[in-house]
Amino acid sequence: MNTYTSTHQDTASLLEEAQRSLLFTANRPDIVMERGEGMYLWDTEGKKYLDFIGGWAVTCLGHSPVVIRDALFNQATTLVNASPSYYNKRQIEFASLLTRLSGYDRVYFASTGAEANEGAVKLARKFGAKHRQGAFEVITTINGFHGRTLAMMAATGKKHWETLFAPKTPGFKHVPQNDIDALLAAIGPDTCAVMLELVQGEGGVHAVETEYLKQVRKVCDEVGILLIFDEIQTGLGRTGKLFASEHYGVDADIMTLGKGIGGGFPLSAVLTREKLNLFEPGDQGGTYIGQPLGMAVGYAVVNEIVQHDLSGHAARMGQYLVERLHQMADKYGLTRIRGKGLLLAFDLPGEQGAEVAAACLAEGLLINSPNPRSIRLMPALIVTEAEIDTMLETLESVLDRTEAPSEGR
Ligand SMILES: *Cc1c(COP(=O)(O)O)cnc(C)c1O
Repeated sequence: MNTYTSTHQDTASLLEEAQRSLLFTANRPDIVMERGEGMYLWDTEGKKYLDFIGGWAVTCLGHSPVVIRDALFNQATTLVNASPSYYNKRQIEFASLLTRLSGYDRVYFASTGAEANEGAVKLARKFGAKHRQGAFEVITTINGFHGRTLAMMAATGKKHWETLFAPKTPGFKHVPQNDIDALLAAIGPDTCAVMLELVQGEGGVHAVETEYLKQVRKVCDEVGILLIFDEIQTGLGRTGKLFASEHYGVDADIMTLGKGIGGGFPLSAVLTREKLNLFEPGDQGGTYIGQPLGMAVGYAVVNEIVQHDLSGHAARMGQYLVERLHQMADKYGLTRIRGKGLLLAFDLPGEQGAEVAAACLAEGLLINSPNPRSIRLMPALIVTEAEIDTMLETLESVLDRTEAPSEGR
């Protein structure tokens, strides 16, 4: 890999072209990523970055892993796409692997997390139509995140999204996480399901409490509504278990997976029980449902996670990282060190999140600040203690230089 040479020498002209031709959606730093390997990314200037964002908790095997390369190559030279009208071999193999590992009975494949959640909500509404007098409403949590399609923006409990792209898709209600009374009050005859993240990821890494989750399961059973776990960020080893639900001993009726399931390739899945095998022809589908390329990659990625017990490794590395953060907490005023496995966050003494993340970027370290006070860490599951040490060295040097926020800021 060290024989690599950039084909684009001129970063400035690339950035100009980006400003000219890409539809603006977000402010991005003036760098252009070009190559990745393991825990590292390189930009077009050849600058190397230690990556603790991991494609947004996506590149679970690190960058450019051999298993994805081989799966893509082998599949691309065998069958790229046979159309969603036919079964294909890879799709069946992958569905079988996922049902065996998860204990769920049935799988529906999609490409993005939002699309999987849409499928889960459709299935819940189908259930409501068939078994609960047309109930359609799904209750989600405030500060949760379920994606960016119009319906999933309505499902997401972000304050700022309340009025964005009105009119908002109806059929969603939001309650505070870990508040069973609020949930009980929200459930009505129109409710068909409750949808939760077990650790709110985009919301700043807030885990659901075990007692609460057990009560939610009980309430859903008593009322006769479904429980949906959005494990798009928490699934596939991220929290130190293959599925975050294993921390709680509570099962859902529907579970959605995304992000890590493709290791960087766009792939997602809806898993459910036999009793919810309810779709009729025409209800649900898509052009890329179960396409062989994605299926081959997903199989290879999930198989790698299981064969190498990357969930266990994530648990150990997460524990090490949390211990190290606690050791430096007093010196830097770090509080609320939280999360599970390798989905971790902590609070800074003030609102310097963006400043700290930008300073780290300049030092060749990628970390995320999900809100002004917090830093979130979600490296690939293959991260080592040595890479954690390197990350913390850079972080400490940045924190040493970062001004404590003064009153007026
Ligand atoms: C990222 C995320 C989604 C949306 O996934 P996309 O692939 O971006 O559509 C949904 N739910 C959770 C919990 C997520 O973290």
